[in-house]
Amino acid sequence: MFTRRLVLAVAAVLATTPALAQDKLPVVATFSILGDLVKNVGGARIVLTTLVGANGDAHVYSATPADAKNVAAAKVIFINGLGFEGWIDRLIKASNAKAPVVAVTRGIKARRMASGHSHGHGHSHDDADPHAWQAVENTKVYVTNIRDALSAADPAGKAEYEANAKAYLDKLDALDKEIRAAVANIPAARRKVITSHDAFAYFKAAYGIDFIAPQGVSTEAEASAKDVAAIIRQIRAQKVPAVFLENISDPRLVKRIADETGAKIGGTLYSDALSDEKGPAGTYIDMMRHNLRQFAEALAS
Ligand SMILES: [Zn+2]
Repeated sequence: MFTRRLVLAVAAVLATTPALAQDKLPVVATFSILGDLVKNVGGARIVLTTLVGANGDAHVYSATPADAKNVAAAKVIFINGLGFEGWIDRLIKASNAKAPVVAVTRGIKARRMASGHSHGHGHSHDDADPHAWQAVENTKVYVTNIRDALSAADPAGKAEYEANAKAYLDKLDALDKEIRAAVANIPAARRKVITSHDAFAYFKAAYGIDFIAPQGVSTEAEASAKDVAAIIRQIRAQKVPAVFLENISDPRLVKRIADETGAKIGGTLYSDALSDEKGPAGTYIDMMRHNLRQFAEALAS
């Protein structure tokens, strides 16, 4: 009797809940930063799977059988593109996915990677730099691409996706202003830092903090002894005030450079992945604010 009543109760809930999991649009995002943007636009209408999670390195990811299953079931597959996810084509092929693959960087003016930086996937030195989300104006393009792709895959949700995107784009406008104001408060001569991988070229172009990276754009590339010596000379010559660690990179290199130059270690930056939810960079907006705070504190005179 109890069991039967429970079944009836569950059936009643199922009949009256408008947004059941099985009615939601299954979508995949390749990495945590992109997943957060998709979540903000998709809201309650989607079920999101993020392949490379918090603190994960999407440059060098190994996909799992569960990933293949999620990719196969997805109605939209969101990727950054610009060569960021070197492993995604193989995963999509292996999973026999039929869903559209949406590169959210479509429409962005891609920067070329600095010459001389080797790329982890064996591409040539004039490859596009994939880290476009480090400039908020690019992230706004990501959001409009996400909005349009979700509306195409789920036309009944168009108005909701548009409203969600509009609200989030307003937050991004406020974030952009906040970053510009904070950078303006740092003395111009001190707007330079060392990071452990070259992920901030878009930030530099948009906001005017100079980033010097001791290794190539990919976390796979190892800095040679010669590279490290050159960086140490550069820090001394240019009086770079601070070096930063990143959540996805080996901290030993940056620590060694700091020891040898006396530059201050300015805390941990989140470049290619969010922190977990309890961490300081659980969302894209929190990540940008966290990084900004690290710069402001380490570079203040
Ligand atoms: Zn990167």
